[in-house]
Amino acid sequence: MVRGVLFITIDCLRADHVSAYGYDRATTPTIDRLAREGVLWENAFSAAPWTKPSVSSILTGHYPIHHGAFEGIKRSKGRRTVTTDVLIDTIPTLAETCAAAGWRCAAFINNAQLGEFSGLARGFDPYDPAAGKADRIIESFDKWIRSDVDTPALTYLHFLEAHWPYKPRRRHIAAFGGNRDTNFFRDFSARDFGKLRKAISRNEFRLTDGQLEEMIQMYDGAVRRLDGKVKKALEVLKSVGIEDEVAVFVTGDHGEEFMEHGMIGHGQSLYDELIHVPLVARVPGGARGGRRSEPVSLVDIPRTILATAGIEGDLPGRSLFEERSSNDPVFAELRIRNRYAQIVRQGRWKLHRRFKFTPTNGDVGRNLSPAQMLRTCPYEVTHELYDVETDPRERDDLAADAKHRRVLSDLECELDRFWTENVPTETDVGGVETEIDPCVVERLRDLGYIE
Ligand SMILES: [Zn+2]
Repeated sequence: MVRGVLFITIDCLRADHVSAYGYDRATTPTIDRLAREGVLWENAFSAAPWTKPSVSSILTGHYPIHHGAFEGIKRSKGRRTVTTDVLIDTIPTLAETCAAAGWRCAAFINNAQLGEFSGLARGFDPYDPAAGKADRIIESFDKWIRSDVDTPALTYLHFLEAHWPYKPRRRHIAAFGGNRDTNFFRDFSARDFGKLRKAISRNEFRLTDGQLEEMIQMYDGAVRRLDGKVKKALEVLKSVGIEDEVAVFVTGDHGEEFMEHGMIGHGQSLYDELIHVPLVARVPGGARGGRRSEPVSLVDIPRTILATAGIEGDLPGRSLFEERSSNDPVFAELRIRNRYAQIVRQGRWKLHRRFKFTPTNGDVGRNLSPAQMLRTCPYEVTHELYDVETDPRERDDLAADAKHRRVLSDLECELDRFWTENVPTETDVGGVETEIDPCVVERLRDLGYIE
């Protein structure tokens, strides 16, 4: 029986830059050790390619189409900044479920997208979305966990330093053959990255191969640095004397792109560099050194944590430790204004389906959910189909190939079924407008999300 769960997400951590997933740089000795002492899922996918929708899925077990937290900041009205997509408040969270079972639940987070307005605080006490750098987060965790070691506890930690502008140590860059002092991105702020992304998306700027390699060195160095923070968090458990009684989960909330499909950063597409994430779990008395190859979604994490903790609860999904078929489909979604994209991955195939809606007069300016837009707006739909076994980088689109018409239509049926099963009938009302605190707006600006 476990007496606690430590759940860590590393922002922007893509699977193929983790050494346990075959990366040729030693970026993650601690995650590698956890994998040896526990279980690693080789094919784990986030439900969305950026923080808010993905973490909302990770903490509720629902895909974005159901929980509704799709979009970021929508518009500024004079001095007011609002978001319209936050977690629907009738959806139970992992923390609420654990708290109802008598557990203590705390979240120490460094990402303004997960502010109090996001609706994710329910069940956590404390819920600190501005907990600071990784060292500060670990100090807060240390203090909190020591304050009561008798009550079982769920602690959620979210580290940000692998998010642009990537803050590695000099020695970590050096270990990967680079030099932080001469690196092109050494003085880049998050706002500089925001501007760079915009320039790249408009074809106004091209990164040279050397600059791209320097950007990757910065990212890898930041990942290496954060792996050391995971180690420190494990040392807290050890120093409190509960290391053998606490289950540890580590994952990434989504990946990061380095020009694989023409962009940098995240949030722009559903290619694997943005949704294939590491996932490892070490459970007291559980399997050691297991590697699971079947595709899984992070939406199953809450159910897995409940099963591990021995808590009954009404959350969707099923435990990742249960047997499952390698042919079970996995989904992910992205919404950007009038565009909605989804993928299904099944066996060797991955289908992207993208809708572009054109709101008619009455709907312009209304906040419609993708399902509402599908019902009321004209739209165009496009597909891309990849054989991810022979083409894992998703370069050779087979959607127009008549030979694969059957595969495409079968996968499209899976997407239709996903839609039918996940669109909420009663709560599908479009987002609820929420005003965002000016301090949070400032922090979002510091992250490069608002100009
Ligand atoms: Zn993120």
